[in-house]
Amino acid sequence: MIILHNESFINRDEAKTDIEDRGYTFGDGVYEVVRVYNGEIFMLEEHLDRLQYSLGEIAIDYNVAEKKLGDLLSQLILKNDVVDGAIYLQITRAVSPRKHHYPENSVPQLYAYPLDLSTPEKEQKEGIQVTLREDLRWHRCDIKSLNLLYNIMVKQYAHQNGFYEALLYRNEEHVTEGSSSNFFGVKEGRVITHPANNYILNGITRIAVQRFCEELNIPFEEKVLSLKDLNTLDEAFITSTSAEVIPVVKIDEQEINGGQVGSVTKQLLEAFKNKVS
Ligand code: PMP
Repeated sequence: MIILHNESFINRDEAKTDIEDRGYTFGDGVYEVVRVYNGEIFMLEEHLDRLQYSLGEIAIDYNVAEKKLGDLLSQLILKNDVVDGAIYLQITRAVSPRKHHYPENSVPQLYAYPLDLSTPEKEQKEGIQVTLREDLRWHRCDIKSLNLLYNIMVKQYAHQNGFYEALLYRNEEHVTEGSSSNFFGVKEGRVITHPANNYILNGITRIAVQRFCEELNIPFEEKVLSLKDLNTLDEAFITSTSAEVIPVVKIDEQEINGGQVGSVTKQLLEAFKNKVS
């Protein structure tokens, strides 16, 4: 495997990360996962914009446009013959002795490499069951930070208990998102999802779904759902770069749409497939 380290392409075996990289000591960095369809990155501009936003919010001095990161990623895809798959990329602040405050003159460290990824076809067709967990993350979920400890804790809980995803809520009035996905409800033909604020990550697939809704004349509403609202939904689904669109047919023991995949969800999944095929 060829990987990208800063602006150089090296073999996987040559990649060595310093023990004082702040990604290790503090989780001080940000990341993206981009999807590759037919050798091309899906919604590259949107991913680069979000990456630049995350970098800016934690003041990592790295300019995506100046570094021509899009071109570097295209080269990485070619060098690894990625046709359908994904690229993981992370940027940490610096390699620097362990002091909490940001070091001066820091040199950000970028690594990017292909990820093994397969489309969850069965789940897309049949739907999934999710489990509700309290959202105990910090209040800056809009930053795509390397700090994913709570996300992996709840994902592990879901996994161990036979659920595909954990659906998070801050309190009874406030459902946020999945541990690694955005959550959507459908009610009387309207698609409803959490506003893109500091309580969720503004998913790239979320943006894609918003655009499909516009194209298909499906009303799209940004609104906070309560736990009670979940019981009244006609349909539900999650989205992410790796999952695309997956119907949710059960939230804990509560079936949605009688445990069947709903028609609006089907329409959006179909729109997604058409877009990337
Ligand atoms: N929310 C969280 C917490 C996530 O980790 C992800 C996936 N990275 C998403 C939402 C979905 O984002 P995207 O569609 O950009 O993959």
